[in-house]
Amino acid sequence: MRKLHLQDRKKMIHNFNAGPSIMPQEVFDKAANAILNFRDTGLSILEIGHRTALFQSVLDEAVQLVKELMKLDADHEVLFLHGGATTQFFQVPMNLLNENQSAAYLDCGTWGTKAIKEARLFGNVDVVASSKDKNYTYIPKGYKIPADAAYFHYTTNNTIEGTEMFSIPDTGVPLIADMSSDILSYETDFNRFALIYAGAQKNIGAAGVNMVVVRKDILGKVNRKLPGMMDYRKHIEAGSMLNTPPVFAIYVCLLTLRWLKNQGGVHAIEKINKAKAALLYETLDARQGFEPTVAKEDRSRMNVVFLIPDPLLEKKFIDACKEQQMVGVKGHRSVGGFRVSLYNALPLESVKALTDLIKQI
Ligand SMILES: *Cc1c(COP(=O)(O)O)cnc(C)c1O
Repeated sequence: MRKLHLQDRKKMIHNFNAGPSIMPQEVFDKAANAILNFRDTGLSILEIGHRTALFQSVLDEAVQLVKELMKLDADHEVLFLHGGATTQFFQVPMNLLNENQSAAYLDCGTWGTKAIKEARLFGNVDVVASSKDKNYTYIPKGYKIPADAAYFHYTTNNTIEGTEMFSIPDTGVPLIADMSSDILSYETDFNRFALIYAGAQKNIGAAGVNMVVVRKDILGKVNRKLPGMMDYRKHIEAGSMLNTPPVFAIYVCLLTLRWLKNQGGVHAIEKINKAKAALLYETLDARQGFEPTVAKEDRSRMNVVFLIPDPLLEKKFIDACKEQQMVGVKGHRSVGGFRVSLYNALPLESVKALTDLIKQI
């Protein structure tokens, strides 16, 4: 059993994991308390009914906070669903793409590639651009989206390859984005999207739930019959309670959303995220032997990917990270090298500690 109090643990460990990933300290503390005694009921959050006023208030507040933090208009609904972002890869085309229609997809990373594969089960996929030619180390630009596309789908942040797209493309068709790894990390006009989805385990909470923001008017247009659990409209009608929702995971989202609001919301966290990424990239660029892999203009502020070609220096870096309790820096198995994730909850101090190490090694 872990004997350390969590407060002490955080002083020692710098957690750069890509997902599930670091969460705010107060979220750990409050979630732990809720498991033992939820809101002084004497009951654990793990044993209360989901159709109780107690849980309804959790869900309502979480939905309200998402609307507030994302500045959503009244046409957008917020859902908490199961199955991770990976389920959205097929739920999106199942709800929005007829068999005889085409949807436009941007192929700019591993997750987008998976989304494309799943969409092909339901209709035609028009891959309008791809950065596969350079191992997805840049974001394609200057592509055209057919005016009759059912929608345009892209991944805002490529968690594995370390690229990020900050500007929203002007397409003339409904916009759909997988924002799993950069949602609520910078200000953008979320209302421009017809549908946004995000697994919770990077910036919003614990694994086991994913968030979907959907504009109601795009629904109900496909010909195929949908199983209830796959139909966004059914989830909207049921207020995310078509069946037993992931109660604890949603509660952890609520705690994280409250924390974000208390930090000053997305505007405030964006400033910190920019400072963290700038410090790390500047340090890497200045340090011989460390090579960021991504084109400068497309560098992600959430996942920083780099190589250390010299095996001796690489080993030194790995050993130093171990010694200084820096975890989660190893790159994705498909890319190699290193990946340092700088999600909302990662404090600037952890980036300072890492950049000090990089400078000194
Ligand atoms: C992590 C991730 C996923 C996969 O999420 P699951 O919850 O494991 O299904 C999909 N897309 C992106 C961009 C991710 O970062």
